[in-house]
Amino acid sequence: MIDTSRGINWSSSIFLITYQVLLLISLPFYFYYWPIHMGTVIAAIVLLYLTGLSITAGYHRLFSHRAYRAHPIVEGLILFFGAMAGQSSALRWCYDHRLHHAHVDTDLDPYSIKKGFWYAHFLWMIEEPRPIEQRVVPDLMKNKLVMFQKRHIGKLMLFSNVFVFLTLGPLLDDYAGVFFIACWLRLFALHHFTWFINSLAHTWGEKPFSQEQSAVDNYFLSMLTFGEGYHNYHHTFANDYRNGIRWYHFDPTKWLIWTLNKFGLAYDLKKMSAYAVKKKMVLEHKSLLIEQIKAFWHGKTDELETQVNEVSERLVNKITEFNELTEQYRQLKKMENHANDVVDTLRSEIKRLKRSLREDWRQWAQLSRHILQRT
Ligand SMILES: [Zn+2]
Ligand SMILES: [Zn+2]
Repeated sequence: MIDTSRGINWSSSIFLITYQVLLLISLPFYFYYWPIHMGTVIAAIVLLYLTGLSITAGYHRLFSHRAYRAHPIVEGLILFFGAMAGQSSALRWCYDHRLHHAHVDTDLDPYSIKKGFWYAHFLWMIEEPRPIEQRVVPDLMKNKLVMFQKRHIGKLMLFSNVFVFLTLGPLLDDYAGVFFIACWLRLFALHHFTWFINSLAHTWGEKPFSQEQSAVDNYFLSMLTFGEGYHNYHHTFANDYRNGIRWYHFDPTKWLIWTLNKFGLAYDLKKMSAYAVKKKMVLEHKSLLIEQIKAFWHGKTDELETQVNEVSERLVNKITEFNELTEQYRQLKKMENHANDVVDTLRSEIKRLKRSLREDWRQWAQLSRHILQRT
């Protein structure tokens, strides 16, 4: 469903189609005729991460969403390796991405999944891009580094990749390997990994945070996309510097930003409070359960709906109370002459509430399993 009314983006289309077809034809010959060097494979993986994280931590979370601020040195590196990734300029990328978030799943979404999986994955780039409107990216238009990269993006894309080839080729004594694996295949892999976020991360997974739009959370995808697979969370809380919010969620982009922050190179990290996230999860799951009851439970619907409403309300109230008490506790501990008995009372109150919350979560999970068994 390509809309050619604005015209076709010939340069981008020819480049993207030609390089992929040529790679797929020539790669079997490379693997057949040349030995694979471990050093080249490691270099390719390092470059995949450098370019990939420049897109996810840079183009995406820094420039598109302003989820944190970064030192100009970090911005410069992001713009260099971002150009090497061959995904157009940061300005163009962020313009499209901000439209995607503002108009997700509608005609104004540049890579709307409603126009089909392959459209969202690749075909949208065949269309002539919409002109960049200043009102969408006014902050980026004031950023000199971003605008420099925009003006010279073609040269920078070429130069950065040629630079890698000319540096690593003699260093690893493997010109063919560096050309095929560290430059060409790496570019291809990262393109598809990034495009998966527009296609697969809007198709295959779960929606724990917001049901109304197509973005989904998918753990497997987060492994390929440097942590961007938690896309349902991201579309719900887009300004959070994290996408995977639990410590065990695979989100190297979040770990990189956190580390940069510890070295003073990234600051003002935005993060949703655990309270807001949990509350949203309960309310969202409640809507899902009510929908499921209406669709699959005939006869007993009133009784089940009342139960769902009661348990969810109790959970939300207790989460709110827990949040207030922990905040009070934090404030009190900060005061120099705090009364120890008040702190102790508050601490035991928090412990009691925690135990009671655990019981409510258990009940909520049980009720949910019971209702969802009929779907
Ligand atoms: Zn999305
Ligand atoms: Zn985003």
